[in-house]
Amino acid sequence: MEMDGKVVVVTGASMGIGEAIAKVFVDAGASAVLLSRDASRAEAARQRVGNTGRTLALACDVRKREDVDRALALTLHDFGRVDVWVNNAGIGLYDTAAEMDMSACRELFETNFFGMIAGMQAVIPAMQKKGSGAIINISSVAGHIPLPFGSAYSASKFAMNALGKAARLELRRAHIHVLTVCPGFVSTAFSENMLASRKSSIRPKSVRGVSAQRVAQAAYRGYRKRQREVVVPWTMIPVIKLYQLFPGVVEWGMARALRNSR
Ligand code: NAP
Repeated sequence: MEMDGKVVVVTGASMGIGEAIAKVFVDAGASAVLLSRDASRAEAARQRVGNTGRTLALACDVRKREDVDRALALTLHDFGRVDVWVNNAGIGLYDTAAEMDMSACRELFETNFFGMIAGMQAVIPAMQKKGSGAIINISSVAGHIPLPFGSAYSASKFAMNALGKAARLELRRAHIHVLTVCPGFVSTAFSENMLASRKSSIRPKSVRGVSAQRVAQAAYRGYRKRQREVVVPWTMIPVIKLYQLFPGVVEWGMARALRNSR
């Protein structure tokens, strides 16, 4: 199989997109390490992914650098290498820029942005030593189009996009590939798991979003083709381009969606 002998580490793999990414890589022949803040949640996902002879579940809170270092050390101890590191752990916050709780805003950045940097800074030396590797950062379409009532979340995803794309160039000579994945709405428990949700999303109730499996397959294809960025579903690409050229048109659409979601 394509990924035979390769080792993939996925942060936030206890459910949703992270679990689906672990499964796609394992189904392609890779060994996988599934990380989550809670070891039993990670273990339950490991059982659902299957092929337990090639997988490991560990507790790892990406806000704590020592957890990330420990997860990497255990991966290298058990599998002897790491080929792909997926920074997927993420959390949302729906509130106004004017009134959001600053401790929630900081916690969001600790997870989505600083957690991603911790993962990259931990794994890059191991990949440099090996002479190759890939880092996949799970960002969002919200990293291209700022979401009303999701300003802090969008800001963390804009920051992820900038950091990942700049690092891609810095790491090119070391043969380390950095891929940014930007999903639109995805059908997961993300909304239920938010830090706070004092405001409703612009997502109309009728929109279910694409499946986590579809995002995982798109991420896997992007990794195989060494792409810079994957937007999934692809129908969000023209919306992003439209926002870049005519932001007022997209803002008008979002204002309408906000009225309809109430
Ligand atoms: P989810 O179902 O809520 O899963 C989030 C995952 O992140 C869980 O496995 C959770 O594990 C983990 N996590 C949260 N905080 C963590 C921390 N401090 N350290 C380690 N793990 C942590 O959400 P999802 O939809 O799969 O989201 C995955 C990623 O996709 C996120 O980065 C999100 O921003 C992005 N995304 C989602 C959507 C969407 O519509 N769902 C759209 C675009 C982008 P534990 O709770 O077990 O620790």
